[in-house]
Amino acid sequence: MISDTELEKYLTAGKIAKKALKYARDLMAGKKKINLYTLCEKIERLIIDHGAIPAFPCNVSYNDIAAHYTPIEADTSIVFNEGVLKIDVGVMVDGYIADTAISIARGKDYEYLAKMNLRILNEVLEYFKPGVKLGEIGRYVESEAKKMGLKPIANLSGHKVDRYDLHAGKNVPNVYEPFSPTIKEGEVYAVEPFLTFDKYSGYVKPGKTITIFSLKKIKRIKKNRELDEFKNKIYNTRRYLPFTPRWFYKDYGKEKTLEFIRILKSERFLNEYPVLIEESGGVVSQYEHTIIVLEKGSIVTTI
Ligand code: MN
Ligand code: MN
Repeated sequence: MISDTELEKYLTAGKIAKKALKYARDLMAGKKKINLYTLCEKIERLIIDHGAIPAFPCNVSYNDIAAHYTPIEADTSIVFNEGVLKIDVGVMVDGYIADTAISIARGKDYEYLAKMNLRILNEVLEYFKPGVKLGEIGRYVESEAKKMGLKPIANLSGHKVDRYDLHAGKNVPNVYEPFSPTIKEGEVYAVEPFLTFDKYSGYVKPGKTITIFSLKKIKRIKKNRELDEFKNKIYNTRRYLPFTPRWFYKDYGKEKTLEFIRILKSERFLNEYPVLIEESGGVVSQYEHTIIVLEKGSIVTTI
């Protein structure tokens, strides 16, 4: 069950996340060269200025990079003439999360890809009722995509969301899964079909770039007080939710921050989230909404 106060916080997070994506779209309009670093910083600033916290670093994954990219170098720019840029934002209000993404597409084929992706997401949201098997979501996404000459990314899925927990167990597959759990009243899901064109493999693999991390444990670090403080600072604002080194440059400087990350990594304090790249080089699109499942009618918080 979900209380009125919880619902309120989910809705507030959703509203701010929606605003952040609209802002992102406005910032990019008409621009060919886009500094992804500045874009992310501005989006995250908007979230903070609204009294919320980013639930994860702003993701700006371009073309065959499907997910998990955020810039950590101030001069990270792309020349965006043709292709798809996915902007994926997370907002939390007292730990209650909204997770939502859009695709900005340039070029006729890519505009088609993104448009169909959005259509499929909006249609599949109708399935979110108590008692529906999650595998049915995947079945619908896969079969609709096929009719359009497109293919879902089979090893990327949506996910259940809980307080301070971005991936709370159950997955929302984008291809048919015969043995899958059932959707229950009061659950919150992030629904996110990723699509590419039919001729590509429809699978992602991890790449070498890693700019997103999360804490794995909170054990005290005895011999390095400054590092212990750094780690506590992360835990106290976001627990085990993802973060990026970029956020700490202002307080610690870039070099020191990256050194902290290196040590935390070697001491096994961190989970790492490498960029996920389409195996056969296919350009990937994504749209995402967060939905609260209710008996009387589910609510999309990010629409
Ligand atoms: Mn997302
Ligand atoms: Mn998500």
